[in-house]
Amino acid sequence: MKRILLEEDEIPKQWYNILPDLPEPLPPPLHPATQEPIKPEDLEPIFPKGLIEQEMSGERWIKIPDEVREIYRIWRPTPLVRAERLEKALKTPARIYFKYEGESPPGSHKPNTAVAQAYYNAKEGVERLTTETGAGQWGSALCFATKLFDLACTVYMVKVSYMQKPYRRVMMETWGGEVFPSPSERTEVGRKILAENPDTPGSLGIAISEAIEDAAKNEDTKYSLGSVLNHVLLHQTIIGLETKKQLEIAGEKPDVLVGCVGGGSNFAGLAYPFVNDAKNGDLEIIAVEPAACPTLTSGEYKYDFGDVAGLTPLLKMYTLGHDFIPPPIHAGGLRYHGDAPTLCMLVKHGIIKARAVKQIPTFEAGVMFARTEGIIPAPETNHAVRVAIDEAIRARENNEEKVIVFGFSGHGLLDLQAYDDYLAGKLVNT
Ligand SMILES: *Cc1c(COP(=O)(O)O)cnc(C)c1O
Repeated sequence: MKRILLEEDEIPKQWYNILPDLPEPLPPPLHPATQEPIKPEDLEPIFPKGLIEQEMSGERWIKIPDEVREIYRIWRPTPLVRAERLEKALKTPARIYFKYEGESPPGSHKPNTAVAQAYYNAKEGVERLTTETGAGQWGSALCFATKLFDLACTVYMVKVSYMQKPYRRVMMETWGGEVFPSPSERTEVGRKILAENPDTPGSLGIAISEAIEDAAKNEDTKYSLGSVLNHVLLHQTIIGLETKKQLEIAGEKPDVLVGCVGGGSNFAGLAYPFVNDAKNGDLEIIAVEPAACPTLTSGEYKYDFGDVAGLTPLLKMYTLGHDFIPPPIHAGGLRYHGDAPTLCMLVKHGIIKARAVKQIPTFEAGVMFARTEGIIPAPETNHAVRVAIDEAIRARENNEEKVIVFGFSGHGLLDLQAYDDYLAGKLVNT
């Protein structure tokens, strides 16, 4: 079978929460001012109660509201696809499958959580959401989702991307969102940074600070984050839950699971429902990150802030330091100094392995994928494609019939400048 499809009523009815299955209790987030463990009330100025509850929940299964499943039907269940033509090109005995999240309207996995977050905010009477976005993938997912629940959406977009990548901004505005280049004059943090350095290109850390300040200062407004936090990873587990069912239909048992990591949400979404199999030693799970931002492979495991200004709670995670500014690689969605605390803990315990790859080999892999399977992957996704291909080559060398499954987090049709640079030989190999 090429495409393994599920019926609409097979969209999962529950999300899977990894917290009760972690090898040790998760160190609590700490309050940025007091350094004491955060209380649910501390988060209420910026998040709705429904999401705070999920963030701290110890329940293994959490019901997906009918209203959310109803919207998931726009693009879910997503297909699991056998990459037969890629296998042939690689002359590998391995069977390669990818879970294709590029079919959503914004073109990535991100609306899986954006829709859920918009729902809980709307239910509690919130009228507007703020967020940050780098290249625009998260901002576009949130603008799409908020519109479906009649919420307004304000996006602080890293200034350099705002200037260089207009098309995601146009998507956000088409879905009714308002987009400002960050740093902006709208917030205290933004004004302060602009006064010191008017020509700054901006950064994700700055944009997060602006979005949080805007939400904290406005009664009817909350903040929304697209990765890293427990509730975001929770919402993404529908990816892995569907994949499990699809592999059963195909009669396959995976040997290797691969995904790319920015903050960890698409990776966790695919991998967490399989983590208990990895504990038995039956399955190797590989998290792939850019060598230019090697959080899991070179970061330090400690408490750190999520943003530059130090407004967010402190999270125990692998981090490169909250003031780390990664080189401007094309995989903008992977340029984050930290990672989800649950993922960091699983890496620390060796249950999940981490690997860092350089930029040019990821594009070589992406182009090979496009020329065999047709779909042009996002630069972020190319990191997963690279390691899936490497594992398939290893299987060929060892003559092993491995089953390799990778998370295809999004398509690259709005990232063609990156491909243009690669094809013209202009990419830097960081
Ligand atoms: C945002 C993004 C990522 C990285 O974010 P995670 O939270 O680590 O999943 C990866 N791929 C695509 C296509 C993205 O848009």
